[in-house]
Amino acid sequence: MTAHDTPLSADMTITAQALTEFCDDYLSASAFKDYAPNGLQVDGGRPIRRIVTGVTACEALIDAAIAEDADAIMVHHGYFWKGEPMTITGMKGQRIRKLMQHGISLIGYHLPLDAHPKIGNNAKLAEMLGLTITEALYPHESHPVGNIATCPPQSAESLTQTITQALGRIPLHISGHYQYLADEAADADTAVPKLLKRIGICTGGAQDMIEQAAAMGCDAYISGEISERTTHSARELGIDYFACGHHATERAGIQALGDIVAQQFGLSVRFIDIDNPA
Ligand SMILES: [Zn+2]
Repeated sequence: MTAHDTPLSADMTITAQALTEFCDDYLSASAFKDYAPNGLQVDGGRPIRRIVTGVTACEALIDAAIAEDADAIMVHHGYFWKGEPMTITGMKGQRIRKLMQHGISLIGYHLPLDAHPKIGNNAKLAEMLGLTITEALYPHESHPVGNIATCPPQSAESLTQTITQALGRIPLHISGHYQYLADEAADADTAVPKLLKRIGICTGGAQDMIEQAAAMGCDAYISGEISERTTHSARELGIDYFACGHHATERAGIQALGDIVAQQFGLSVRFIDIDNPA
């Protein structure tokens, strides 16, 4: 677990509703059709003075927030996802019970925090990798998630190094140049050197958007997770794929939102990274 503090200015408080209203507005949250409610998900019922931010509202993050005497947790992955059981039982019940027992509010922003042009996960990842965003991955959607970026032409090895340095972990790279060779080197990567300069980006579990990245003429696509099928997509679509970790690619947005909240309201905000290799 690592933590990053935003310096405290004053001992200010704000209601959960006012804090959420500010964030909703800043992120244009109501414009997005999402898989989970954005904004205030659990009302802990007390004024907010200290906030803990994190990627996912897992039990370890709640324990950290309790240890920090936080009044609110702000995350990218909150609760109440489409398709999950509606009851507050089991693991979800345990998490929410802890929040309520300690009067801690939970505030979550999913797609609005991926897509924000300045502090979104995609914008931040591009910035960390030295890529310049030029357009949306889905240009015809009103609030698209995912981007296309450019960079000086570079090899897959060079991009791998940049990602490793930026995220502190080695990405899984699937070459877009693959041919089955029955005689000599079966299953060999034909290793045709290709320079990458037009890069699709969408953080998290957006591996299936590789087809859109290929359709948009990208040389490479960067996301968080990989499925078995993603390897075949990369090879058959002729696009290099970099699986950089769901958690690793989605740390920056919530930290940036925390910084903004700290500056705007003079609250104490601490990012706590509950390590996750996936
Ligand atoms: Zn995610």
